[in-house]
Amino acid sequence: MPFIIAIDGPAASGKGTIARALAGHFGFHHLDTGLLYRATGVRGGDPVIAARTLSADDLARPDLRSAEAGQAASRVAAIPEVRAALVDFQHRFAAQEPGAVLDGRDIGTVICPDAQVKLYVVASDRVRAARRAAELGADPARMLTELQDRDRRDSERATAPLRPAPDAVVIDTSDMAIDQAVATAIGTVERAREAG
Ligand code: C5P
Repeated sequence: MPFIIAIDGPAASGKGTIARALAGHFGFHHLDTGLLYRATGVRGGDPVIAARTLSADDLARPDLRSAEAGQAASRVAAIPEVRAALVDFQHRFAAQEPGAVLDGRDIGTVICPDAQVKLYVVASDRVRAARRAAELGADPARMLTELQDRDRRDSERATAPLRPAPDAVVIDTSDMAIDQAVATAIGTVERAREAG
């Protein structure tokens, strides 16, 4: 049975960095599920049809990381039919041997509720805005509004809202260097592997 690591949390909390590092460390596959919603959001037209017909080209678009794509993603992500259209792909990805790391908003709660490890990665609003501003070369105050806007939409939607699974391990990266956050996550996974 493949080993699944589910990582959720708000935007710019550090979950993507931790997910990539865990996948590299344990030799697992990694899926940034936010890209599926970003690609759906920027395609234009009917978002349900976009989600049902996403192609490799859609997922390779160079503009997917922009703040605008993030906003478009969180709008289409509130549509239940869009979420439903993306479930199979995520399940198939998670079923790959020897294991997979998926990061997003609903991985531990909806997509992989039986994951062997669930992490919920958080950081203060100020730290997240500063990180995103540095990454995109944008203004921190604008990034703060953008993140809070998206967090609100993601947490308040009726279908698969952003929230920790009851058995998730919370990692607050506000005062952690990347290495420290990654080491904490690796430690959590190693303990789960020994116990399992
Ligand atoms: O993680 P990222 O910031 O790329 O996600 C972009 C948007 O996609 C999020 O703000 C959220 O609305 C949506 N999303 C989601 N469920 C996921 C991953 C992302 O609703 N599993």
